[in-house]
Amino acid sequence: MIPKLVLAQEFLYGYSGSFIDSGNYSVTYVHNKAEYSPVHSCEHILNRTMVNMFGCPRSRNAHIERKKSKCDYILDTCPTDEQVAAIEAKVNEVISAAMPVMIEFMTRDEAAKIVDLSKLPDDASETLRIVSIGDYDDCACIGAHVQNTSEIGEFRIISHDFNEGIWRVRWKVI
Ligand SMILES: [Zn+2]
Repeated sequence: MIPKLVLAQEFLYGYSGSFIDSGNYSVTYVHNKAEYSPVHSCEHILNRTMVNMFGCPRSRNAHIERKKSKCDYILDTCPTDEQVAAIEAKVNEVISAAMPVMIEFMTRDEAAKIVDLSKLPDDASETLRIVSIGDYDDCACIGAHVQNTSEIGEFRIISHDFNEGIWRVRWKVI
């Protein structure tokens, strides 16, 4: 029997349907449309960069599109111009480092040692799909990814605003 994976966290936006991953697992996901993998992989890098720089949670209200994406982060204050430039530079540094993107299936207990599962929905499966970007980021995710960050392109922040504790950043990869 093929184990069925049902995941969420930063993945419950986008498409709906299912696919077979690695030949071993049937993955069901709840998205509206297929994500463009370079943009989605870049989202993981951006999330990790925000966690590292500001100590905030990963974006839980992201809208990822091929041409233009947006992510929301819970912050105390609006990042300065220098900080926004630093975010952009760090994401591009990770992309340029040509890090491998690895996908591994593991039990919740194993996964809990490397990723935060506190937001995992109650109905998530016992086996989780963990996406690792080099040694930079690990995240439970069912989305489509590039195999190497060098495939992503260049990350550009288009605009951003800060409202009632939410920093919204609009960005793209070119
Ligand atoms: Zn993902």
